[in-house]
Amino acid sequence: MILWFATGNAHKRAELAGILKGHEIRIPADAGIAGFDPEETGRSFLENSLLKARALYRRLARRGIRGPVIADDSGLCVDALGGRPGIYSARYAGPLQIGSVSLGDGERNALLLGELGKRMDRSARFVCAMVLFWDEYRFYGVQETLEGELVAPGEEGRGKGGFGYDPILSIPELGRTVAELSEEEKNRVSHRGKAARALAALLAGDGAAGDPCQS
Ligand code: IMP
Repeated sequence: MILWFATGNAHKRAELAGILKGHEIRIPADAGIAGFDPEETGRSFLENSLLKARALYRRLARRGIRGPVIADDSGLCVDALGGRPGIYSARYAGPLQIGSVSLGDGERNALLLGELGKRMDRSARFVCAMVLFWDEYRFYGVQETLEGELVAPGEEGRGKGGFGYDPILSIPELGRTVAELSEEEKNRVSHRGKAARALAALLAGDGAAGDPCQS
């Protein structure tokens, strides 16, 4: 089945394609929609993913293309920082949250470790809310996590895989940061992997042509 994924993030697309193997993942650019980047005005990961899914569904409909659309909203929640940066992870710019400052991943990771300082509570998690938007009246949401710990005080990020905060989130059971995992390993344990598999199970349900609502 063709699934439209509301992202411009090539890493996210590759991750989803690796998980939803029987499906063709298309992104806005495949429909000639350039710079798809709806304003994330929601107050939760789930609200933002629904907002992105609905926005893409409507833009596709205007081009005569019918969904289904998948959207995700994800981020890093650090316990010692009261869950920040959370839904602002992509825009995190230090404790003052100067919204529109655009930093590279390395700078952002260094800033976050700097803000956490020597605090011993390093627990943190990646969160991913994912929505399967079937049409204006039917959609399904799921939210999953990848639990870990930020690297120890004084340490820098490790690993070259993945993207974003991957080098600074360590998974104690694996003894590695997320950036040190192979793509397959990350997909197996990740917030996005778990959420996508929940939706994949829904798509593989007993409905004709994968329609999860077909009875
Ligand atoms: P989104 O595109 O609005 O969902 O923003 C997600 C942001 O959260 C990204 O730009 C990353 O900074 C961070 N993030 C989400 N998922 C991951 C992940 O799997 N690895 C590393 N960083 C992530």
